[in-house]
Amino acid sequence: ADVAGLLLSRIRDVPDYPRPGIVFKDITPLLADPEAFSALTDELAAFCRRHGATKVVGLEARGFILAAPVAVRAGLGFVPVRKAGKLPGATLSQAYELEYGSAEIEIHAEDLTADDRVLVIDDVLATGGTAEASLRLIRRSGARVAGLAVLMELKFLDGRERVLPELDGAPYQAL
Ligand code: 5GP
Repeated sequence: ADVAGLLLSRIRDVPDYPRPGIVFKDITPLLADPEAFSALTDELAAFCRRHGATKVVGLEARGFILAAPVAVRAGLGFVPVRKAGKLPGATLSQAYELEYGSAEIEIHAEDLTADDRVLVIDDVLATGGTAEASLRLIRRSGARVAGLAVLMELKFLDGRERVLPELDGAPYQAL
């Protein structure tokens, strides 16, 4: 079956959101379709197994929705990367540049160990800034990066070029 075609057919273009001139890729129709959501979960869980992941990291907020069922299906633990100030325990933080200003993300340091191989999941790779910062955070934790998987890449933004150096040879997949 053409899984990529099914997934793409369930992503809705929303013009001028969140700002004029931006076409937002809305994944909620895919989440609402059990066949598409399950097919996506299967693909991502297979990617985890193929590359020997021991933990699945999801990026706030839509990455959580995708990564949590993948972790369960692959029999792995789930670890959230959150926006700064949301995690109650001891965190590692990573700042990164946005188009206007900067942002900061965090992870609970104790949720990853040096033995972990971490597979990072998000819904959309745009400029690649969020994924790049997440990969750096995982490296700084002492864990290894097993790979990065996204549902969709906005190719015209060249985010792939930004994340590849941080992946350092680990696999990348955009479904
Ligand atoms: P980046 O850091 O690569 O520029 O932006 C990626 C982050 O912003 C991801 O966490 C993603 O959820 C969100 N994002 C950016 N553009 C879109 C979009 O068109 N659709 C969705 N669903 N998320 C987006």
